[in-house]
Amino acid sequence: MTVLVLNCGSSSIKYQLIDPDGPARLAKGIVERIGEDGGVPDHAAALRQVAAELERDCGPLAELGLAAVGHRIVHGGDRFAEPTLVDDDVERVIEQLAPLAPLHNPPGLTALRLARRELPDVPHVAVFDTAFHQTLPPVAYTYAVERDLAARYGVRRYGFHGTSVSYVSRAAAELLGRDPDDTNLVVLHLGNGASATAVRGGRSVDTSMGLTPLEGLVMGTRTGDIDPGALFYLHREAGLSVDDLDRLTNRSSGLLGLAGANDLREVHRMAKAGDQAAQLARELYCYRIRHYVGAYLAVLGRAHAIVFTAGVGENDSWVRSHSLAGLRQFGVEVDHVRNSFTSSRAQVISPDEADVAVLVVPTDEELEIARQAAGLVEAAPA
Ligand code: ADP
Repeated sequence: MTVLVLNCGSSSIKYQLIDPDGPARLAKGIVERIGEDGGVPDHAAALRQVAAELERDCGPLAELGLAAVGHRIVHGGDRFAEPTLVDDDVERVIEQLAPLAPLHNPPGLTALRLARRELPDVPHVAVFDTAFHQTLPPVAYTYAVERDLAARYGVRRYGFHGTSVSYVSRAAAELLGRDPDDTNLVVLHLGNGASATAVRGGRSVDTSMGLTPLEGLVMGTRTGDIDPGALFYLHREAGLSVDDLDRLTNRSSGLLGLAGANDLREVHRMAKAGDQAAQLARELYCYRIRHYVGAYLAVLGRAHAIVFTAGVGENDSWVRSHSLAGLRQFGVEVDHVRNSFTSSRAQVISPDEADVAVLVVPTDEELEIARQAAGLVEAAPA
């Protein structure tokens, strides 16, 4: 079985050709700088380039025997809790959700439309970043604002990184030798965007990102948690418009705003050279993680493991040990020798006798999308 996975951003399309039963990639690539100088003019041209690269590497598209095309869609609102076979109605609903994710959903939708036109005989499956978090209970997803207004505009916590957290949760249970339905986890997805999720019995019960990916942890360029009053204050006193504030909180804050670099490797380099702003930035990054770990240990009551994943989580031993420092009373401890190795395989970095295991589990969102798309197509009546 072969699945084509398309992950379309505002200026790039990543693609992978995957056998969902095995992690090996049959082909992969990225078309970048869409709409920029020196790049392809638009998403249609980018998708044609994807097709050309696939044909060059793997032969005619029609002969690939594609079982499905899996599309990553960022925001599914409260309409999509599962991977979904796309028809015109589903496309329309995704379009209606665009205001919730104005930067992310429109490019995904464009790629979806074009790919359906290009490959009309292959089932297209939309896999949503928000879907895994549709199991959140009302106490976790409700904001304490006027009920009617919130309902009318869909103001609530949705959560993101769900595809990654779903994949990592299953892999973590496997590493622990436990049934996923009987495994409680705190999953820390620390990439450019970053989130914490409490998983009880394989289901998301709380997560740090909210209506948008802005809430929660300190990220590469996003503030994470901030008093909304600070934004009203900046509007009134500094004259920042709504668009200015959107840019400030999403693009020029976080590690970038604090230290001048959004990549933690660079922040570490500056901190070691004595830069105090960089030192505070990385301390604050870890402090916010510890804050959420504490909260989610309380939410879960009993956690079997804390799991680190994504670019920072998989590679940065300093962040892992600092963010969990001082939690021994809660059964959480990092073994410094185990923590010092980087591996492409899932591994345990806590001491054997620790109450709560600490794991590093490499994520694989594309494989998860391929598996979910294949699972849906196999289950669907022919
Ligand atoms: P995205 O959210 O873009 O998918 P990734 O999960 O690939 O991001 O993570 C990207 C981030 O991971 C980079 O911005 C960088 O800060 C961090 N990163 C990658 N490799 C390392 C490393 N070896 N040490 C520390 N941080 C790393």
